[in-house]
Amino acid sequence: MKILFAASEAHPLIKTGGLGDVAGSLPAALERLHQDVRVILPAYRHILERLPEATVVAEFPVPGSPEPVRLRRATLVKDGVPVYLVDVPALFDRAGGPYSDPQGRDWYDNALRFATFCRAVVRVAANHAGLDWAPDVVHCNDWQTGLVPPLLIREPRRPPMVFTIHNLAYQGVFTRDTFQYLGLPPELWSMYALEFYGGFSFIKGGLVFADRLTTVSPTYAREICTPEFGAGLDGVLRGRADRLEGILNGVDYRVWDPGRDTLIPHRYTAHAMQGKQRDKIALQKRMGLTVEPRVPLFGHIGRMVEQKGVDLILDALPALMTEDLQLAILGNGEARFEAAFRTAAERRPGRLGVHIGYDESLAHLVEAGCDAFLMPSRFEPCGLSQLYSLRYGTIPVVRRTGGLADTVVDADGKSIRSGAATGFVFDEPTPDALASGVRRALERYRRPPAWRNLIGNAMRQDFSWRRSAQAYLALYRRI
Ligand code: ADP
Repeated sequence: MKILFAASEAHPLIKTGGLGDVAGSLPAALERLHQDVRVILPAYRHILERLPEATVVAEFPVPGSPEPVRLRRATLVKDGVPVYLVDVPALFDRAGGPYSDPQGRDWYDNALRFATFCRAVVRVAANHAGLDWAPDVVHCNDWQTGLVPPLLIREPRRPPMVFTIHNLAYQGVFTRDTFQYLGLPPELWSMYALEFYGGFSFIKGGLVFADRLTTVSPTYAREICTPEFGAGLDGVLRGRADRLEGILNGVDYRVWDPGRDTLIPHRYTAHAMQGKQRDKIALQKRMGLTVEPRVPLFGHIGRMVEQKGVDLILDALPALMTEDLQLAILGNGEARFEAAFRTAAERRPGRLGVHIGYDESLAHLVEAGCDAFLMPSRFEPCGLSQLYSLRYGTIPVVRRTGGLADTVVDADGKSIRSGAATGFVFDEPTPDALASGVRRALERYRRPPAWRNLIGNAMRQDFSWRRSAQAYLALYRRI
């Protein structure tokens, strides 16, 4: 099949979170299943600097865009999946992140930036870009691609459209003035289309007009149809529930496997675990923790926002620190959480190590060097870090929500006996529930044979992309 995969980030060219991981890995996994898949991304400055060889293959005007779009072509990795870059320097050639300026504020013109991107995607999808390539399916991802379905559906000859929700909390909501300024078709201003509580919503375009909807775990697919998780769109989603399914993300085990990870100092496998002990010592040194191979070390990596429950970790610290354990925290995000973690670390030298920032190689060392991993998310569409933890034999302690509920098996009597147990799952989003999850993990940790069993179970889990890619391919074929 010919598949056009539209996203606003893709690893290794540009990544801010899970979407970037998915858009980097899923197309490659589809290609390994012998599909003709091409990714389309905005040509951010950062990407063009990395891909000086990206040549212009088409040029066309797009309504509302300050300049004509130049479409460049390159590959995601050397000899890898082809990628089209939507090059509009006035919109994308700037210092800063894909969504926000160097100060961390959303770009003032995000609506125009991503509307232009969507219009370019529509040109390519409808085979009006002069590429002589007509995709059999268009796969859109998150709000930045949300205008593709409502615009593409107007084309007389158009491919079927899949829209994947990676995180419903980010919706791309703008004002009515912006709607008019973008010159969107007036009939889309309707509560049955883009209108959303007096403004308009990019993501709603995807939810209403795509032929099929997916999200990144079966549990999250059910959760977003409820008011608690639906972020105002649960009604729309309930109306399309028969078109919505959950497909778990996979892990790129070429990048995330302790047996071949090039970013950790000591590699290890389930059968030869000595390297993990050495990575633990390396991590303790790197994080300013007391070097104590026998003290259990818990890690956390993630964006410091409420979704991830970092405030629960902060509030649980007094209880956690009465236990004989260490904590290693890597993350960045809201200033209030960053500051609170910095202060907490100063007060507990040697026991609480905090690194504020985004650091890919330190993330690998945290996964490798820790004994257990905390993920107390309030909601979690899929979550990748717990999947990495499983493979690194770093036992996840997670809240029962979304993808966490679907991928971690709580170590209770039954699952321990059957060999299915892989971690510790707690229910309530409270510091107490988190602390009791940690205490259950500590109890097991103190019984080395039981802990080793748990590690063995965890490391055996297979969340490779192949399985997920087959599920997407089956869906493409159905439509
Ligand atoms: P989300 O997409 O909601 O941020 P996921 O668990 O799906 O959460 O994906 C997070 C990804 O981003 C993982 O690959 C994780 O290792 C990475 N990550 C998050 N924060 C950091 C950080 N501060 N430094 C390095 N990697 C990070």
